[in-house]
Amino acid sequence: MSRTFVIVGAGQAGAIAVETLRREGFDGRLILIGDEPSLPYQRPPLSKKYLAGEMEADRLLFRHAAYYQEHRIETRLGLHARALDPAARRLDLSNGESLTYDRLLLTTGTRARMLSCAGADLGRVHGLRNIADVNEIRPQLKPKARVVIVGGGYIGLETAASARKAGCEVTILEMADRAMNRVVAPLVSDFYMAEHRAHGVKIICNTLVSCLEGGDSVERVACADGTAYEADVVIVGVGAIPNAELARDAGIACENGVRVDEYCRTSDPNVFAAGDCCSHPSPHYGRRLRLESVDNAVEQARTAALNMLDKPTVHDKIPWFWSDQYDLKLLIVGVSQDHDRIVLRGDPATRSFSVCYLKGSELLAVDTINHAKDYMAARKPIAERMPMNAQKLADITVPLKEAVAG
Ligand SMILES: Cc1cc2nc3c(=O)[nH]c(=O)nc-3n(C[C@H](O)[C@H](O)[C@H](O)COP(=O)(O)OP(=O)(O)OC[C@H]3O[C@@H](n4cnc5c(N)ncnc54)[C@H](O)[C@@H]3O)c2cc1C
Repeated sequence: MSRTFVIVGAGQAGAIAVETLRREGFDGRLILIGDEPSLPYQRPPLSKKYLAGEMEADRLLFRHAAYYQEHRIETRLGLHARALDPAARRLDLSNGESLTYDRLLLTTGTRARMLSCAGADLGRVHGLRNIADVNEIRPQLKPKARVVIVGGGYIGLETAASARKAGCEVTILEMADRAMNRVVAPLVSDFYMAEHRAHGVKIICNTLVSCLEGGDSVERVACADGTAYEADVVIVGVGAIPNAELARDAGIACENGVRVDEYCRTSDPNVFAAGDCCSHPSPHYGRRLRLESVDNAVEQARTAALNMLDKPTVHDKIPWFWSDQYDLKLLIVGVSQDHDRIVLRGDPATRSFSVCYLKGSELLAVDTINHAKDYMAARKPIAERMPMNAQKLADITVPLKEAVAG
């Protein structure tokens, strides 16, 4: 008898999951539900080329409508999955429709965390998560417009670079003592802050926003230390919240998002999850991770699709991530948490260098800046836990793969 698989969330992971299911021979009914009006599209350009007006909306799409028709993928767009009954294997949609499924995949992603202070709901205060956000922001990025970005994470920094390209006056307000403090070593933060300052961006650290002021729209951002910044537009980049409520309200276990095992299965045997919305065990790092990256969404969606088809597959990948700012490509491979020392390869002044994160002699992760060679070479020693020779590692003339100890 024909089976029905339903995917909730038509983003990066949802798009890969439906493709994988069809490629792997799933011949039953396949339904992809998304609450945005668009077919699945790439998010990374939203803070980069699309925000800078260098890319058309059509080019954001992974696939055009014809692909979904040809592959008998029913796309239900602009519909929110609002309730789930795992015992009855039933999903209720915002238009009153109910669907029954044999297997369900949650790829609901995250939403932008917004400020909770007074004035947070004024006009011209935006998160940056989807096309609709950028379509509102883009016309406001006029030359000389005063753009205040709250949060110096990678989205805040990429947005700053795009706004500078548009000729805006940009200020970043960061609560911590440095930008990208959650993901990179201080010397990488210092390098990026210096680059942004050289491009005319003001970066103010150790600053807590206390309220936003204005009439209907924001005019000023006030901080707890008594400083204030005039603003024509405010963009909030202070992190993301996993969309896990559908699972949680259905009694499915959640822990920093939807909790899945190494097969991407939730606490309900017929419900799987993949991408930004879920936390998973990493056998390699021996901890649970919730990652927000294209690579993770793609790999987990593939793994989830295979397991939905009863082809047992473990998700145990070394994650990677990229960020583009100005002419700088940051590539990060691995997870640096738990490192006990850092080795610098190369000279930041050349704008091409790497930073290696070690625990003892084990390489946990590498950040490469305009130095993709190290990014490629680092995967094997990280995955195979090869002991490294820190002295050789510090010598940029020694290829990274030859810095293995012994
Ligand atoms: C501005 C920006 C820049 C980025 N840049 C990079 C980068 O340079 N490199 C990188 O590796 N990663 C980057 N990322 C992260 C990357 O885009 C995400 O990790 C990836 O999109 C996650 O895929 P996903 O499918 O899990 O979630 P998403 O792509 O977010 O898709 C989830 C979808 O599910 C929908 N949804 C949620 N709940 C429901 C519901 N109940 N019913 C129906 N639909 C629902 C959401 O509206 C959304 O459309 C960036 C993200 C952003 C926002």
